[in-house]
Amino acid sequence: MLIDYHLHNHFSPDSETDTRKIIERLQEMKIKHICITNHGEWFDKTEETVGVFEFNEVYSRLNSAKQEIEKLRPEYPNMDIAFGLELQYQPKAKDEIKKLLSKIQFDYILGSAHIMDEIVISGGLNAGNYFKDKSEEQAYTAYFEELLKWVEDGDFNNVAHFDIIKKSGYKFYGDFNPIPYKPIIQKILNKIKETGKGVELNTASMHHKCHQLFPHPEILKWCVETGIENYTLGSDAHELHEVGRHLDEALQIAKDVGIKYLSTYKKRQPTKIPISDY
Ligand SMILES: [Zn+2]
Ligand SMILES: [Zn+2]
Repeated sequence: MLIDYHLHNHFSPDSETDTRKIIERLQEMKIKHICITNHGEWFDKTEETVGVFEFNEVYSRLNSAKQEIEKLRPEYPNMDIAFGLELQYQPKAKDEIKKLLSKIQFDYILGSAHIMDEIVISGGLNAGNYFKDKSEEQAYTAYFEELLKWVEDGDFNNVAHFDIIKKSGYKFYGDFNPIPYKPIIQKILNKIKETGKGVELNTASMHHKCHQLFPHPEILKWCVETGIENYTLGSDAHELHEVGRHLDEALQIAKDVGIKYLSTYKKRQPTKIPISDY
């Protein structure tokens, strides 16, 4: 039995997937513990208003998303359906984010960094604009520095897709090797440990050319060595066919690097389930 703790439905600005279909597909796949994690801030395909966090819009959209989950839960008593959120790092929306978290109780929150210099670096239309004038070292170091600030500053549970910069970066620089970035990555991991956060194993890019888990298994080994305790698995599905994808491979990697538990969440509190039970 697996968990899928990163799923987008039709309340996410970048997805149209029907929630009932997501639940039923995961039920067929015997994935019991699931969490819907829509974007808080706006993500539009044109990228003209990407990252905008307008409180009333976010509140009403996510409140409706929560009501829908509450309505569906009794219909699927064998499924453990959590209500979550994916939040982009943006210090300018700090007060609005705080207000949102005081008004809506989430079970689980992912912290993400997909926008650098107002460009969506996670595979958006304009991602190339971020990389084209930068060396790999410049591009990746700036990303990890941004992630470090978010981990220091942010109110969230787990870091989403830790090294998502490689999803577009590999086209410019080839396969991602984390070793040269160990000093900055280790700082992030220390801060994750210190603030009681965790790390998700995100499979969204395993079918892409870059074909790597987020984070790279080497980084996961460092996570274990650092003593980070909470881990989730997530497909980051925006479409139905992506739901639950590659999670069995991610589980095997988790076991190989020595992760002992996967966590599920209720009202932001983790419950650790021994990985041997999966
Ligand atoms: Zn994301
Ligand atoms: Zn996502």
